[in-house]
Amino acid sequence: MPKYYIKTYGCQMNERDSLQVAAMLEGRGFSAAEEEEDADVILINTCSVRDMAEQKALGKMGMLMRYRRRRPWLVLGYLGCMAQSRGEELLQESPGVDLVVGTQKYHRVVDYVERIWRERQERLMDDERRPIVDVEEEEGSQSAIRDHRLGPGQCSAFISVMQGCNMRCTFCIVPFTRGKERSRPIGEIVEEVRELARRGVKEVTLLGQIVNLYGRHEFPRVGGKSPFVQLLEAVHEVEGIERIRFTSPHPIGFREDLIEAIGRLPKVMEHVHLPVQSGSDAILKRMRRGYTAKRYLELVRKLREARAGLALTTDIIVGYPGETEMDFEATKELVRAADFDNAFVFRYSPRRGTPAAGMYGQVPEEVKEARNQELLGLVNKMFRSKLEEHVGKDVEILCEGRSKTNEQRLTGRTRTNKIVLFEGGDRLVGRIFRVRVKEASGCALYGEVEE
Ligand code: SF4
Repeated sequence: MPKYYIKTYGCQMNERDSLQVAAMLEGRGFSAAEEEEDADVILINTCSVRDMAEQKALGKMGMLMRYRRRRPWLVLGYLGCMAQSRGEELLQESPGVDLVVGTQKYHRVVDYVERIWRERQERLMDDERRPIVDVEEEEGSQSAIRDHRLGPGQCSAFISVMQGCNMRCTFCIVPFTRGKERSRPIGEIVEEVRELARRGVKEVTLLGQIVNLYGRHEFPRVGGKSPFVQLLEAVHEVEGIERIRFTSPHPIGFREDLIEAIGRLPKVMEHVHLPVQSGSDAILKRMRRGYTAKRYLELVRKLREARAGLALTTDIIVGYPGETEMDFEATKELVRAADFDNAFVFRYSPRRGTPAAGMYGQVPEEVKEARNQELLGLVNKMFRSKLEEHVGKDVEILCEGRSKTNEQRLTGRTRTNKIVLFEGGDRLVGRIFRVRVKEASGCALYGEVEE
């Protein structure tokens, strides 16, 4: 039985897509390899959001080619965003690669892998390669992928509810790599969630590039509720599902109906990831984000009023073209005012074909790095103090299994998405219970199970 290995870069959407491809490969008789060196098929699911992610994937493929010396039949492929944006070009950058499959063709990967695998068996001594490149758009490709491969005791799962984005933020490559917005019908998503609940899943994370604008082109508002609020309500009804998360939303998609729903639906967790990108109005305008710092902070206030104990995290880009010291100061001010639990800070990285890549006022790398370090210092301090606030308190967690770094400990997440490590038996895996937090250290909380 041929073995496969998938290396994934990037966001949760990519994680979900990789799981989907894995499930489909297993459905056709492939089995998972523990290590990449044991695999007959290795696929890299790529990310294009930053140049570094692309360079990592290209470097990784270069290393994987070495396995061909021992395993000449090895099938190597690129999937995902970089495959979509570079297409054929990747055959030149990585000579010897067999497969380049874009973001709307994940459901075809297994057919392509089988075809190459079969040809390779038939022509084992033949060095000639006939790579397959498929980055064509395909309507409805989303609905074709909904299998879930669940590990033992797995209690949480990602659900892809929409693909693509029509927003055209000036820095972002996603509209080019993931295409225009396409949403799956509520009934189909609910059916998938029900099936997961039946198999023991308690927590679902609804995924979309701009998830809170789910369905805006396809489905009507009903009773003043947006399609996303209708979706949240429908998933909330599913018996067995105890926790609902969603990512990534856009601040402009938080209208009154969604804020009210977050306050009203107890299964929706007290955590919102709310990408702000900058605290400077001038930069937000250049980014074409559609809000000001003031409106963003108003939204933060409304969300906190609607739901007690809400944790907020965000994404911030530093060193955007034209960003002055004053703009950077405005970002730090907003970070303090919003009182985030945590933030992902990125140095601006020009992406080919995006408006920002050609903007005047590109910021020198050393300035970006200095701002990156300074902001990270501030954010890390805030994160540590948010963790410290939990010490001595009880928190509700969903236990996800053994910690990857220490088999002796179990790991779980709080309702506000903090990681908690603690000792206990396997019978706790997949259960929701309370833990007394004893310590905050590094990026996690350490606790004891309350008897
Ligand atoms: S809303 Fe998000 S995914 Fe869409 S263009 Fe802006 S940053 Fe990219």
